[in-house]
Amino acid sequence: MGYENLKRGDKVVYATMLKEIERVNTGLELIPSENFPSEATLEALGSVFNDKYSEGYPGKRYYGGNKFIDVIENLAIERAKKLFGAEHVNVQPYSGSPANMEVYLALMNPGDTFMGMKLDQGGHLTHGHKVSFSGKLFNAVQYGVNKETELLDYDEIRKTALEVRPKMIVCGATAYPREIDFKAFHEIAEEVGAISMADIAHIAGLIVGGVHQSPFPYIDVVTTTTHKTLRGPRGAMIMCKERFAKDIDATVFPGMQGGPHDHVTAAMAVAFGEALKPEFKNYARQIVKNARALAESLMENGFRLVTGGTDNHLILVDLRSKGVTGKEAETALDIAGITVNKNTIPYDPRKPFDPSGIRLGTPTVTTRGMREAEMKQIGKFITAAIDAKDNREKLEEIRQEVKALCQPFPVY
Ligand SMILES: *Cc1c(COP(=O)(O)O)cnc(C)c1O
Repeated sequence: MGYENLKRGDKVVYATMLKEIERVNTGLELIPSENFPSEATLEALGSVFNDKYSEGYPGKRYYGGNKFIDVIENLAIERAKKLFGAEHVNVQPYSGSPANMEVYLALMNPGDTFMGMKLDQGGHLTHGHKVSFSGKLFNAVQYGVNKETELLDYDEIRKTALEVRPKMIVCGATAYPREIDFKAFHEIAEEVGAISMADIAHIAGLIVGGVHQSPFPYIDVVTTTTHKTLRGPRGAMIMCKERFAKDIDATVFPGMQGGPHDHVTAAMAVAFGEALKPEFKNYARQIVKNARALAESLMENGFRLVTGGTDNHLILVDLRSKGVTGKEAETALDIAGITVNKNTIPYDPRKPFDPSGIRLGTPTVTTRGMREAEMKQIGKFITAAIDAKDNREKLEEIRQEVKALCQPFPVY
């Protein structure tokens, strides 16, 4: 992209942006919640659609001049419906956390009981953790994974649901490397008279690509961010069955938000258009193939993976057999040009700020065109960097090899 005006207008921001582009082009971003949207999507984000106030919904705005904003918002909604098969879509939530809050406040009262997955076993903060609004405003009952299998235990979840009779059951995760059985969750919710909700932030792109079970038509309410595997702008949407539409829309606006970010909506429309193309299915399939290849490479190099592998885009590595902590691994890998995040593993004996694991994902490396051969190589780099965690010189050497691997796969 040109950025000629930015170059003239603000040298500091421009120079820092060039450094960030260089960092991204020459390093490996293995954070599973990140991705690189297309330049078309980024252009829509930086467009005139940033400028309007359009409180309300298409055809019912509190400001004039929204003729073309309505076209954009309707386009994003129609494309989202086609992608997911949803009955109703709201594209205005500012991000994933507000989207979840809007659903809870639309369909529950403060103090009500709901169930969500524990943060330290793979859930998200907004699924009922005590530091989050979700655990403060509501009576959040937290479920986890089975200690032996490290998998969701649907019998156990059902038993808890029968005991606590929640108003809502939330499923979805940020660090769960296996498929989620949405139908099973919905059946449990139905049995106890609860609303079922799925937060598909991480796996939305895999669902669209047909490589992960869809929450539709079972789940009542589905939230997702649009910037993870879906590869759109930073934002979120709520999809639901028609009978929840009125309450959810009214809670998003005017309940919790003001003017929608129309430039984000425009970028969503562009990204959803891309996701409707057949190539997107190949991309989604390759994300999973790459994750499997990286998982195999790591296991061959002596790592234990939580659940023994992956079905989706992410891998949770248990570092205990290597005698290294998550924080140490994150720091060493960072020097080697490989960005990952430290993460708790289920039933982690260590504390969250220095847990026993790291979390890896393949969306960004897949977007830039890497395949199984590169994954095998990345597995070797990760192993070498962790083995050499105190050897700065060796880490710098790996940094150069990472750079060479990235060179034929520029992002920008
Ligand atoms: C990323 C994520 C969110 C939060 O999204 P933000 O846009 O960071 O607020 C919510 N739920 C899940 C499962 C996520 O992975």
